[in-house]
Amino acid sequence: MHEVAIAMGMVDELIRIGRENNAKKITAVRLKIGRLSGIVTDSLKFAFDAVKLEHPVLLNAELTINEVPLIYECNDCKKSFDTDNFYFPACPECDSFNLKLVSGEEQDIENVEMEV
Ligand SMILES: [Zn+2]
Repeated sequence: MHEVAIAMGMVDELIRIGRENNAKKITAVRLKIGRLSGIVTDSLKFAFDAVKLEHPVLLNAELTINEVPLIYECNDCKKSFDTDNFYFPACPECDSFNLKLVSGEEQDIENVEMEV
């Protein structure tokens, strides 16, 4: 499962952040996950909750996932719109395929709360 690898990468990153801040415990983590990232957020949560058990600093970390919609801006008429069409999005205003991705690819740690 793709999400397990992502969860492990995030856990490594969180441990690094915790060390840099001399944190005793990480209590909450908020992620920003774009729809185009292909990540199933429920699976990611599940994987994170399993992986964190191996790391005392993360044992009590509560994960929140902020899902970011897929948003494009049309280069022709400048309209921005959100869509579920991952493959062939077109502007709803002028049918153009000349689009710029505004959001949807995020795979970021947005916020970390910790006890030091
Ligand atoms: Zn347009």
